[in-house]
Amino acid sequence: MKTDRTVAALTNEEVGRYSRHLIMPEVGMEGQLKLKAARALCIGAGGLGSPVALYLTAAGVGTIGIVDFDTVDYSNLQRQIIHGTPDVGRSKLESAKARLNALNPEVEVVTYEMALSSQNALGLFTDYDMVVDGTDNFPTRYLVNDACVLTGKPNVYGSISRFEGQATVFAAEDGPCYRCMFPEPPPPGLVPSCAEGGVLGILPGVVGTLQATEAIKLILGVGESLVGRFLLFDALKMRFRELKVRQDPDCPVCGEHPTVTAPIDYDQFCGITPVPAASPTSGSTDTTVEELKPRLDRQDSFLLLDVREQREFEICRIPGSVLIPLGELPARMSELDGHADMIVHCKSGVRSGKAVALLRDAGYTQARNLQGGILAWIDRVDPTLPRY
Ligand code: ZN
Repeated sequence: MKTDRTVAALTNEEVGRYSRHLIMPEVGMEGQLKLKAARALCIGAGGLGSPVALYLTAAGVGTIGIVDFDTVDYSNLQRQIIHGTPDVGRSKLESAKARLNALNPEVEVVTYEMALSSQNALGLFTDYDMVVDGTDNFPTRYLVNDACVLTGKPNVYGSISRFEGQATVFAAEDGPCYRCMFPEPPPPGLVPSCAEGGVLGILPGVVGTLQATEAIKLILGVGESLVGRFLLFDALKMRFRELKVRQDPDCPVCGEHPTVTAPIDYDQFCGITPVPAASPTSGSTDTTVEELKPRLDRQDSFLLLDVREQREFEICRIPGSVLIPLGELPARMSELDGHADMIVHCKSGVRSGKAVALLRDAGYTQARNLQGGILAWIDRVDPTLPRY
């Protein structure tokens, strides 16, 4: 990684702080000054962003930008170790900045309270040497990749799901990009998000630390980077494997004849947004918690079908609901005989959207999806239930 930025020598206090770096020939004073001159942009202050930002700050990367627009929730604390219990309800950026400033006041932390979009990505990336992708969804992942290719910045990539993680460096000079591996986003609803699929809390710690390691190596220009190597980590087996990835001349963004020449907002297509809101008319596939509540109170005759997993049902449930996990639904369809009127829910509305599609295909044409799932029920009807 080349940069023509130079910085003044280290202060005595900085020499003390970075002494374990300074005595290593691979870092030394020259390397530490490269770190100090470097600018890294973290997308997200969540599970991956936590170790990335903490370790880059501790290492003395001079400027760290962070993009996020979320607030800290109790359900984040199991893995997003940059935030603490007193930060619940606070903006993630404020919380992260306070923690990073306490860790290393020499580092400039620049926060961007916004969603990354096709409108702002290029301008933002131009100001940094590299981008560290800590996003948890496909629209942003494609946006980060495309904007990195278009601005010529390496994309230090990480992703996590349940017990498995992946890390690599995309969009480096002469290296492949994300679209060389995965040219187009998956169809809506095919891949569960962390909120739907769960994640072992330690996993982003491992993967984010790998990303931070790659970022520091890129800055120092030492070692062998993960460019062209897609690293897979299985926490259950405690195994690392790697796939070779080559730049694809037909890649839609970094290939010889690119079709993607500007960043794209995929939000409308990627299915991480729960099933779109529709008016609650008879033909609609959706209903709301505000409509469900009086129907339960009146003891209307309908089936409230919960398609989450048993473990989730044990955490919280809407009284009167019947559990058939989505994966078992096709085989257990006969249990629904005699029920025409059906409201289906899951945690946030994605799985139940799929269940409603299955049910309607099977002839249950009155089945409707509860928008926002049990989370909407907890937020707007019964806040005494635990959120997860
Ligand atoms: Zn590519």
